[in-house]
This record gives sequence, C-alpha cells and structure tokens, in this order.
Amino acid sequence: ILIPSLGLVLAFWFYSARDTFKPEMLRGKRVIVTGASTGIGEQMAYHLARMGSHVLLTARTEARLQNVVRRCLELGAASARFVSGTMEDTAFAQHVVREAQAALGGLDMLILNHVGASYFGFFDGDVEHVRKLLEINFLSYVAMTTSALPMLKESEGSIVVVSSMAGKVGFPFTVPYSATKFALDGFFSSLRQEFAIQSINVSITLCILGFIDTERAVRAAAEVLAERPAPRDECALEILKGAALRRRELYYRYSSTRLPLLLRDCAAELLDYLVRSRYRLPATPGA
Ligand code: NDP
Repeated sequence: ILIPSLGLVLAFWFYSARDTFKPEMLRGKRVIVTGASTGIGEQMAYHLARMGSHVLLTARTEARLQNVVRRCLELGAASARFVSGTMEDTAFAQHVVREAQAALGGLDMLILNHVGASYFGFFDGDVEHVRKLLEINFLSYVAMTTSALPMLKESEGSIVVVSSMAGKVGFPFTVPYSATKFALDGFFSSLRQEFAIQSINVSITLCILGFIDTERAVRAAAEVLAERPAPRDECALEILKGAALRRRELYYRYSSTRLPLLLRDCAAELLDYLVRSRYRLPATPGA
C-alpha cells in the first residue's frame, strides 16, 4: 500500500510543480505583443516588464506606444521598443517580426492580441467590412506566425492567440468579429496538430476571454450586456501564466467561459439561449 501511495503523492507533486507559474519563467524572454497601446495588450506589456522580459510592442498609435514603452522601462523591462503601423497590411505584420529578429536576435513568445474596430448591432450585410476585419483580426495573425516560426522553432517558444467566447459559440450583434475569432480557432488548432505530427516544440495557447473592462469593450457593450466586466490587468496576467505554462487553451473567467461551454455538445440550444439572455435586447428593426 505504501509504495503505490508514495507513487501517487510523487505524481501529484510532479504534476502540481509542473503547473506552477513563476514570474522568473518570463525573465529575459523576448516577447512581441500586438495591440499593446491600450487595453489587455497594454496590461500584458506592464506585467512582462515587471517580470524582466524584453518587449517589442506594436499598434497604430505611436504616441500611446511611446508612453507604454516609457512605463515598461520604469517597471523594469530588460528592454522595450515599439513599431507602429496597421495590421491591415500583411507586409507590416512581417516587418514587425523582422524588427524583432534585428533588435532582439530571436523570439521566445509571440502574443497576437490586436483587434480591428467593428460595429455592435445586427449584421448589416457589409461584405467589405467582413473582409477588412478578417485581414486585421485573422490574416495578420497568420502572417506574423508564418514569419516568426523559424525563430520560435529555434527557441522552442510560444504563440499566444487572444480570442473570445465569441470565437467558440455564436454571438449576436458581433457577427463579423465572431467570424474572425472562429477562424483563429480553426487555423491555430489545426496548426497545433501539425506541430505534434512534426514534433515541433512550439506551444499554441488559445485564450478564450469573457467580457473584460477595456475602454473599447465597455463603450461598445456595457449598456447592453447584463454582466460586470472582469479587470483587464488580472486578465492580462492570466494570459501570461497560461502562455508560460504552455497551456493549450486558457479560459478567463472560468465561470463565464469554460462552464457554459460545457453545454455546447449536449445542450447547444440551451447555450444559445443563455448567450442571448446576457443581452438587454434592442428593438427588432421594423418592429
Ligand atoms: P483594445 O481596443 O483596448 O485594444 C486593441 C489594440 O489593437 C489597440 O492597441 C489598438 O491600437 C490595436 N489595433 C486596432 N486596430 C489595429 C490595426 N488596424 N492595426 C494594428 N493594431 C490595431 O482591445 P481589448 O484590449 O479589449 O482586446 C484585446 C484582445 O482581447 C482582442 O483580441 C479582443 O478580441 C480580445 N477580447 C476582448 C474582450 C473584451 O471584453 N475586452 C472580450 C473577448 C476577447 P491602435 O488603435 O493604436 O492601433
């Protein structure tokens, strides 16, 4: 009895030790964070800085990025720099990765977090908007991953993809946005399979977020969503922990994301109903 019990205790100890995040895990790591001028990306930059990482930040607004870089240096980043430009242009996505290669000599973590502006309301039939959003929220993620892969293979690094509950279950009022987030799941979950087949030791962490208190999200949805948003700094830290532990998927917060998703296979209609019931519904057009 004693030996199997000891074995169980050791196995448990090994499993929990493997599962424990320590800030040192990210010290000295070379990290790109996209969409780092505001919101969750900005908070990830500050956490990484406190942990002593090298950060390369990107977004469009240069003045904001300058402030974030300055703050990162005050907080203790090993180094901090930015490249500004738009992810509508795949050439810019590739350029950011080349800058990392030139400035940092390699890459340990690619955090794909930026998101293009969209509307909140019934689908308006604007196909061009869907195409543009796919370019920003999806194709640039693919382009950056493709360019960064040689460096990530070399460092046995990590790719972090910031997605949403709206990328796991149908959401009303954000149809183009949801479509881009579903596309990310398809691409990166399939890529993970290929990495396994080819023994490529690059982790892919898909982050499924609920409602977070960033300015953009609160402005768009606070009045219609019947729930309180979760804090963006805590969300950012949970993403980094999941990434450092090379998790397959990360759910934040668990109660508003993972738990409802358990219904998806056994009670999809009920899940759809629960999603709809989160909204204070606007009047139906023409009603
Ligand atoms: P924010 O709007 O606060 O930040 C978006 C970032 O993307 C900004 O830095 C913005 O900077 C940048 N960005 C926007 N358009 C472009 C572009 N064309 N090219 C390059 N960069 C661009 O968003 P959040 O922090 O709320 O969201 C971060 C991630 O979390 C997103 O992927 C989002 O889908 C996901 N998420 C957020 C939720 C929430 O409730 N907040 C819920 C679920 C998921 P700039 O304007 O300077 O370019």
